Amino acid sequence: MSCCCETESPYHRLLTALSGVLFIVGLVLSFQVTTESRPIYDTIPPTAGLTLLVAALVGGANFIPSGLRSLRSLSLDMDFLMTAALIAAAVIGEFAEAAAIGFLFSLSELAEDYAVDRNRSALDQLMALEPEVAERVCLDGNQTIPVEEIRVGDVLAVRPGGRLPVDGVVVSGQTSVDESTITGESLPADKTIDDPVYAGSMNQEGYVEVRAERVATQTLLNRIVQMVEDAKERKAPSEQFVRQFSRVYTPVVVALALIVMIGPWLLWGEAFGDWFTRGLAVLVIACPCALIISTPVAVISAITSASRNGVLIKGGDNLEAIADVRAIAFDKTGTLTKGSFEVLEVISANGLNERRILEIAGALESRSEHPIARAIAKYAGSVEPSSFQSRAGLGVEGEVDGIAYRVGRPSMLNGSLEDEASRLVDGLTGTAVVLSTDDEVLGAIVLEDAIRDEAADCLNALKRDQIRNVTILTGDRRMAAERVAEAVGVDVVEAGLLPEEKLTAIEAIQQKHGPVAMVGDGVNDAPALAAARVGVAMGVVGSDAALDTADAALMSDDLSKMPYLFRIARVSRRVIRQNIVASIVVKVILAAGAAGGVVSLAAAIVVGDIGMSLLVTGNALRLARTR
Ligand code: ADP
Ligand code: MG
Repeated sequence: MSCCCETESPYHRLLTALSGVLFIVGLVLSFQVTTESRPIYDTIPPTAGLTLLVAALVGGANFIPSGLRSLRSLSLDMDFLMTAALIAAAVIGEFAEAAAIGFLFSLSELAEDYAVDRNRSALDQLMALEPEVAERVCLDGNQTIPVEEIRVGDVLAVRPGGRLPVDGVVVSGQTSVDESTITGESLPADKTIDDPVYAGSMNQEGYVEVRAERVATQTLLNRIVQMVEDAKERKAPSEQFVRQFSRVYTPVVVALALIVMIGPWLLWGEAFGDWFTRGLAVLVIACPCALIISTPVAVISAITSASRNGVLIKGGDNLEAIADVRAIAFDKTGTLTKGSFEVLEVISANGLNERRILEIAGALESRSEHPIARAIAKYAGSVEPSSFQSRAGLGVEGEVDGIAYRVGRPSMLNGSLEDEASRLVDGLTGTAVVLSTDDEVLGAIVLEDAIRDEAADCLNALKRDQIRNVTILTGDRRMAAERVAEAVGVDVVEAGLLPEEKLTAIEAIQQKHGPVAMVGDGVNDAPALAAARVGVAMGVVGSDAALDTADAALMSDDLSKMPYLFRIARVSRRVIRQNIVASIVVKVILAAGAAGGVVSLAAAIVVGDIGMSLLVTGNALRLARTR
């Protein structure tokens, strides 16, 4: 049902204002000759009647054309109902009522545009953070160019206090940058050569030169804005309820209006004009305008303010799902821990010296992106692998100096080798990987990863709020997982999982506890993120793929945003419910009042449409204050 919010005619305000002035003039003219509070046809002078009629048509110009189009397609939308009511009032000579409909409904559409705009402006503010010009570094002096002309590879000068025009890397200088618009992180981040920087963030006191890597619509800031915009298209379940409800509500009230208009007159010979105007008032109540915007304004407000806090939520459907979540599964490495391993110990099993073990393992790991790999790779020295293969969730394999090696967990190996490897690492605490050839186990490397400082507080806050069950899902060994679980307060540990086993684990938790949120770093947890009702990717500033696949994302690597994510989802659901209930209750009261003759047509529009639209919008804007 197309209801309101679509008119964006440049004349809308002007016509509304003009209609309002004529409406008042018309009323004054008609009151000059009568002391009755509601002037009627016979008693008002023709000038007053004419003025009111013009007021009705001027205001009606905003919706009558679209109302007539709806008539052709037989859709009972707001514009059609109002057009019908206006024409009916004019035909029976109730010019004041016709003018009231023309002016007030036109005003109520403005009120709704305003409501929607209030939400839009937050997004526009975000977009405005991209500067319009940039300073390109050239051999023969710098040039100032419009940002549209920046090409990938250009080097740009960024002066103190300036905004970054593109996503790129620092190629000279050092500074600190306020990235709060992207990450929600209020402390400035230090940047030096090779560090990534993002369009829209604010350079502090240093001078840097930045090589452009992503420009124009490709920048992270643009993509965030795009996602927030797309979020509106994805309907929340409450919105679907509202649609179904309106489909029944509107015809019922229209029927009621018709009965009130002609029923008493036909059956009991009551005065026609009186009941007809009551019926008109009921008719203008038939479109649940505030109800229809009640959910979207809350969803947009929540998603927009979340994005300003470094939390992306993709759509109203996910927003409501988050409010339903009672269980969370965390990936361990890189999510609950920092993902920056240090090698603690090397154990030789076959006489090969420890340095050589690290060299061979390091050479293979230098080709892998895994957090474990990054810690071992630095011991490679000048050794390089001649072939390389990564096996997700297991380890890596390849040839060094003509011999095939494997580095990874014991289950990467077969038969007796696996047993031997397990025996080797069983007694060890923490994370351990095994180096082996095709026929012997050479040794083990023990590593440790630091737990995130905010992890324990985050889990505490989540449990205080709405989360009943927290599970760790990890491919790492139980020993390593339990150390983390104990330190941060996790209920259940599922260790030694392969990536596809994480997926079945998610399904099992979902069976038991209902909708689950899976939190992962998004790189190797994609299947589990997809299987969970809500996939939350963390630290997506660095990873585009994660941003695309997740249902929600924390821009920075900061777990303390998790409680906020759940809080805003819960508060928005409460706001949505309040909005829906309030709009329905008020309409029902007004409809009853209008049929009984105690609520005038003007009051029905002022309270039911203008008042309620502003009320549900104001209620939704409260979401911006959620912390
Ligand atoms: P997590 O669930 O903690 O993210 P993964 O599923 O990525 O862990 O990996 C599970 C296990 O597989 C690791 O604990 C490690 O034993 C082994 N592994 C995975 N990738 C590598 C690698 N590149 N080098 C060594 N071991 C690896
Ligand atoms: Mg991981």
